[in-house]
Amino acid sequence: MSIQHNWRLVEQKIAAACERAGRRREDIGVIAVTKYVSVDRTKEAFDNGLIHLGENRWQDAQSKWHALSGDEGLEEAGKPIWHFIGSLQTNKVKDVIGRFTYIHSLDRLSLAEAIHKRASQLGIVVPCFIQTNVSGESSKHGMEPEDVVPFLASISGLSSIQPIGLMTMAPYEAEPEDTRGVFRALRELRDQVRQTSPHAERLEHLSMGMSNDFEVAIEEGATWIRLGSILVGKEEDGQ
Ligand SMILES: *Cc1c(COP(=O)(O)O)cnc(C)c1O
Repeated sequence: MSIQHNWRLVEQKIAAACERAGRRREDIGVIAVTKYVSVDRTKEAFDNGLIHLGENRWQDAQSKWHALSGDEGLEEAGKPIWHFIGSLQTNKVKDVIGRFTYIHSLDRLSLAEAIHKRASQLGIVVPCFIQTNVSGESSKHGMEPEDVVPFLASISGLSSIQPIGLMTMAPYEAEPEDTRGVFRALRELRDQVRQTSPHAERLEHLSMGMSNDFEVAIEEGATWIRLGSILVGKEEDGQ
């Protein structure tokens, strides 16, 4: 299916979820997750107006990044805005920072220090989401909810990092409704952190919801949803 077709269907679902929750469409950003697809398909997404692109590994992302953003001649406005959504190894920070605008997977102090160091060299400030494991599943990445406030305090001196929200991945559920508790827990955590942490004044965003569960995530307050298979498809199923 064409991305245009997929996006139209996704937009209808987003609109319906906003309607149910009494939310405004413009308060939700859509990240097209291109990790499953080719350079050409990634270009198709961007050419259709999906300017926010998400990748989870630099090794797989680099050909797409170079094809769409590597050309020095392009104006900023003619380029995608990249979101790094996968777990980030410290030794990949030099590749990712400066190329990806947003980091969704800040989950430890050593990573924060590495991002800060690289970003200071480049003279930039990196907006980051703190990845949190609210579902309690041991297979999921992210810090424990109770560690978020002390973590914010520990990175408050790292001036090249701007914490802008929390990110989580819900476990896959055959019934999307079963993910609601996870998304609600992330929203309540954000609200609680904002009240109790002096370092959380801009911690407003919630990066949550994927192809299977984004409608529930929107109902629970997502401000960024990360859509791969439903929007750009997967290479192996012929898109
Ligand atoms: C792959 C991935 C997505 C998108 O997955 P779909 O289910 O295909 O929408 C979203 N977020 C993260 C962190 C991912 O790794």
